[in-house]
Amino acid sequence: LNFIQKLPKAELHAHLNGSIPISLLQELAQEYIASPPHTSSISDDIIQSGLKNLLDGPSINEIADFFTLFPAIYALISTPSSLARATRAVLRLFLDGEYPQCDYLELRSTPKETSEMTRETYLRVVLGELAYYGKQKTGLIMSLDRKMGPEVLRECVGIAIKLKSEGESLVGVDLCGDPTAGDMEALRTYFDDARSAGLGITLHIAETLQNPPQETLQLLSYSPDRLGHATFLDEQAKNLVLKNKTCIEICLSSNLLCKTVPTLESHHIRYYLQHNHPIAICTDDALPFRTSLPGEYALMLAQPPLGLGLSEAEVKAVGEMSMQARFKNLPIAETA
Ligand code: IMP
Repeated sequence: LNFIQKLPKAELHAHLNGSIPISLLQELAQEYIASPPHTSSISDDIIQSGLKNLLDGPSINEIADFFTLFPAIYALISTPSSLARATRAVLRLFLDGEYPQCDYLELRSTPKETSEMTRETYLRVVLGELAYYGKQKTGLIMSLDRKMGPEVLRECVGIAIKLKSEGESLVGVDLCGDPTAGDMEALRTYFDDARSAGLGITLHIAETLQNPPQETLQLLSYSPDRLGHATFLDEQAKNLVLKNKTCIEICLSSNLLCKTVPTLESHHIRYYLQHNHPIAICTDDALPFRTSLPGEYALMLAQPPLGLGLSEAEVKAVGEMSMQARFKNLPIAETA
């Protein structure tokens, strides 16, 4: 544990609303139920059963089950102050304490419009919390959801470009959400605009067997800097990724619990390790997957079948790769 705690490492794939500590969600739920917002469209029952599900340990039989966890969380963080509290708690979780989970955190979130805030306000609130830790420790990735329509996509990318030009620590754009939704060709223009503005690009890609190979090739043609999951790449896609040295964000517990990968033995991380290809080990959603970054690193060190059985030198190299793959392209020495 001491080895893992001291290892320099970056968390590059953590969804804000999937990483909120359950204790804070319970606190927010009590406040919500005591004085529900007038505009709420979600009942107390849904909030209660959503929290119970998270507390009991969600039953995820397939990846689609996972996405049903979020509506209750969204109802609880629909005001600037609750969003700020949630962001603060997530930042503390990763960055505070005697042994912070990581040396650098690139947190990602999808801007949501509520009756209390615009998407721009959403991003500004999150960035305001990140600012307490500074640009050497944190960056924000704006997630675009595969279900977003053209107007919302245009609005979000426009806001991201504006915030970056103002010097805010908005470092990249992500594509996430239900892996079976959306038309990938229609999204290209938004990622082109983001790249032209100097933002990093990461895409959830080939997360399920249902993602057709031509969709994967379309997404790879956006020239992403990093890829999330990349579980079901065919040979053609793998060759492109290897050629371009595109870093893969690997989330071991997430893949096992969503059952997109049956065992660690068969996990695609082994392919990338064999090819000495850049990867970053990440948590994805620490709340439902009940994990932490040190926990994910421990899975690499543990002996099979519980872990991958890597040596300390190999795990150290993975930590270094995560620091190299940060969108914020500061030399490591400057971030100390
Ligand atoms: P948020 O963007 O901060 O609201 O974080 C939660 C959202 O991230 C979910 O509603 C999903 O859209 C997205 N998300 C979280 N985990 C995954 C994943 O493993 N695959 C695809 N999308 C995900």
